[in-house]
Amino acid sequence: MPEKLIFEKSVQGRRGVTFPIEQVKAFSVDAVLPKAYQRETPLHLPEVSENELMRHYTRLSQETYGVDNGFYPLGSCTMKYNPKIHEDVARFPGFSEIHPLQPEESVQGALALLYGLERMLAEISGMAQVSLQPVAGAQAEMCGMLITRAYHQNQGRQRLHVIIPDSAHGTNPASAHLAGYTIKTVHSNAEGIIDLEDLKKVANEETAALMLTNPNTLGLFERGIGEITKIIHDVGALVYLDGANLNALLGLTRSGDMGFDLVHFNIHKTFSTPHGGGGPGAGPIGVVEKLIPFLPSPVVLKEGDYYRLDAGCPLSIGRVHSFYGNFGILVRAYTYILRLGAEGLSAISRNTILNANYLKKRLEEAYDIPMSRPCMHEFILSAKKFKDKGIYAWDIAKRLIDYGFYPPTVNFPLIIPEALMIETPESEARETLDEFAEALLQIRKEIDTAPEKLKNAPQSQKVGRMNEVLAARQLDVRYDPN
Ligand SMILES: *Cc1c(COP(=O)(O)O)cnc(C)c1O
Repeated sequence: MPEKLIFEKSVQGRRGVTFPIEQVKAFSVDAVLPKAYQRETPLHLPEVSENELMRHYTRLSQETYGVDNGFYPLGSCTMKYNPKIHEDVARFPGFSEIHPLQPEESVQGALALLYGLERMLAEISGMAQVSLQPVAGAQAEMCGMLITRAYHQNQGRQRLHVIIPDSAHGTNPASAHLAGYTIKTVHSNAEGIIDLEDLKKVANEETAALMLTNPNTLGLFERGIGEITKIIHDVGALVYLDGANLNALLGLTRSGDMGFDLVHFNIHKTFSTPHGGGGPGAGPIGVVEKLIPFLPSPVVLKEGDYYRLDAGCPLSIGRVHSFYGNFGILVRAYTYILRLGAEGLSAISRNTILNANYLKKRLEEAYDIPMSRPCMHEFILSAKKFKDKGIYAWDIAKRLIDYGFYPPTVNFPLIIPEALMIETPESEARETLDEFAEALLQIRKEIDTAPEKLKNAPQSQKVGRMNEVLAARQLDVRYDPN
């Protein structure tokens, strides 16, 4: 039986906590809130005992799957282990009990942390300056596009389009579009990387920027990156790195060294924060020297031993979030980076790449791997050849749930039919990768011998296969007691 909604458990008059009402002085609501803002009907809240409440949420927590339950190979999302020390540090009273409106001199420690993180991210990426304000990769992309726009305008020129590869994440064209640009697509070649000849054709004096993910969404390093950035710079445009795949590059190469002008960090991916289910996250943006004046404000500056919030230059695109972004997430990233150090960071990338290639090797005989050259931190299987048996990438993903694993990303990137995108964070042990490989090999056999097991999966859960199209088209999250 699926767990009931908390509203369905509600019994009128039941209480979790009771307050000694008689000790509270009565006051008139009208005295504090104008009539127009008062509710006409009581707020519909569930009425349950503390005991029932506890059981309800404990049961729900046991029914979900997270990185603390098992392997979570969700490609492009970097679902790595989140060290628990981060939670302790984020709860230090000096971090958790301060207020963003406190005077600068009373929060010097917090500002030192922000400043330190800005500098570490600048060093890791080879960029001149970083703003910590955006709270997601997608928001940083939009910032990056607004910075691009402000930069070109300041140069007195108008640029019309942004070039984006056909393998890109959907947020890339969305961000460029929001900043007022049209999108031009550059195609991938048979190797799965940017077709340089095609890039030369689309890049021209109307190009504002190229947005690129490297390693790209097929898990491949763009080998022509030096030439790519040159082609774009030669037409006076900027190159933006979608840094979602930074987990593959730490300590191995830097976006600045590859010629990028802007880069975002998905702190919640690369630098470990519980994510999935929508947040919270952090998406700092880093830029080269000439773009610093356009960064969102404020940034933290250090003068002698004093940390100061800089309101930004008149050319700044302004604020994109309240205060400094998601401070608690930034504390976790700072802790993570300091604990690992330079050696530890590059070990992350070397291990995630090793893990991905190990798993890929174990699967390559049973499944089609469209791009066969060694991958970076993730790789793609295609389930296209099972289509005539009525089996789709989706079915394999759902069957993995019965084997105790979270499914990989499916049907992304769009250029690979029936894609299953598998990412293997560094925090996974070889034994885990072996168990996962065994599950996929077993499922491969089932495709021939018992395809119904895939079509009916998952069977092991309280809720089986859901109609996801219906859920998206007729989204209904309101509980109607009637
Ligand atoms: C996750 C991701 C994004 C978006 O980042 P969010 O932090 O989820 O907004 C953009 N591009 C790629 C390739 C991603 O994997």
